[in-house]
Amino acid sequence: MRHPLRLWVVVLLAWPATGCAQSVPTPGADAQIQQLVAAVSESRLRELATMLVGFGTRETMSTATLTTRGIGAARQWIFDELTRSSPRLQVSFDTYRIPVQGRVTRAVELRNVMAVLPGRTNRRVYISAHYDSLNLGRSQLDVLAAPGAQNPQMLPAFDHDAEAPGANDNGSGTALTMELARVFSDSGIDFDATLVFICWAGEEQGLIGSSAHAQRLAAEKTVVEAVFNNDIVGNVRGGTGLVDSKSVRVYAVGPEDSVSRSLARYVARVAATYVPAHRIRLMAREDRFGRGSDQSSFTRFGFPAIVFREANEDFAKQHSAADTLDGIDFAYLAQNARVNAASAASLALAPPAPRVTGDRGQSLIARTPSGYDASLRWNASPGAVAYRIYWRNTWTNDWERSQAVRNVTQFVLPAMVIDDFVFGVAAIGVDGHESLISAYVSPTRQAPDVKVVQE
Ligand SMILES: [Zn+2]
Repeated sequence: MRHPLRLWVVVLLAWPATGCAQSVPTPGADAQIQQLVAAVSESRLRELATMLVGFGTRETMSTATLTTRGIGAARQWIFDELTRSSPRLQVSFDTYRIPVQGRVTRAVELRNVMAVLPGRTNRRVYISAHYDSLNLGRSQLDVLAAPGAQNPQMLPAFDHDAEAPGANDNGSGTALTMELARVFSDSGIDFDATLVFICWAGEEQGLIGSSAHAQRLAAEKTVVEAVFNNDIVGNVRGGTGLVDSKSVRVYAVGPEDSVSRSLARYVARVAATYVPAHRIRLMAREDRFGRGSDQSSFTRFGFPAIVFREANEDFAKQHSAADTLDGIDFAYLAQNARVNAASAASLALAPPAPRVTGDRGQSLIARTPSGYDASLRWNASPGAVAYRIYWRNTWTNDWERSQAVRNVTQFVLPAMVIDDFVFGVAAIGVDGHESLISAYVSPTRQAPDVKVVQE
């Protein structure tokens, strides 16, 4: 019984979090971020979504040559609107030639629309949404009721120019992304990270636009700190009749200490500070059953990425001509935009997350010096003035304790057995902004097969 008592003394000494390091800036509400959050305009969100719906369809293989209808007109307008938003935004088409594959039944030139707000460094924080729409000819509710049935998009007779207003799926996310491009570039804040506001095409054919983009990022070894994806984020009345305008779901693929889960926890913490009336419902899975979106194009390459989903969906309206503007509650959409804004701004102002693995990928954690201590090492994050160590019981999924430490790259928590806790560390910048928390992960051991004499 001696050991558990000793442990408790150490835990009590290490709490409260800031008790041992007065010089460490404490994270809290930042007036700049509060102003940025307050600048999100519900009426502009309505104007943007109204324009998007006005193109009739934004289906990936719809007409690209008309000026008022179809994906060609829609993407040009998104480009022009982003350009008008701010001279600080670098707006471009991110263009790919996609040959026939899967649900892409004819070769197509696909254009993501991208607006970059350069920061002091090249590491990127993404806010994104797909702008393409879809009319399957039957509602998503029917599709979900008959899993495995042939996708109508594969049929030669499929009408790519059918009315597909895509107000909520995903005019809501597209308007959110475009509005935040304006809000961030108008803010005058000098961000450390480069912000990328991007509207994807080809999502409804299998995440084509985001996949092409993420593949290129991975090949070019671009550093991506976070991807906030927004897909179906404007409706408050679910198909069951339930109404919820006060919460949003955030899906993050595992395992428990994946970089995406770290990002999801970060959003919940920041939202509680800046948008306290909006509840973040963390979902410990990649996405809803049988449904996906562009965050998965990034998690595939190990980039931290999450997706926001409205609290209650109305499946009957999705992927049909019934996905109209009256299905968006713009006050609710604005709250979801504010959560994105606060989280992305906090991250873009903070130093990068510390790397807690060595050159061979091993966790930089040890039992030294006594053999029963937690000795943590990490790589210095550029711009960090301090760090915060976090820990929790291994069977819980939210951090329980923390301790700020000075500008060091190793720290020993005495008499804490590393096998019994999960540890993580975040970098703190000069204004108190904290990075994502990098966790020390215990890898699964790969045991070789045992040789057995064959009788
Ligand atoms: Zn969608």
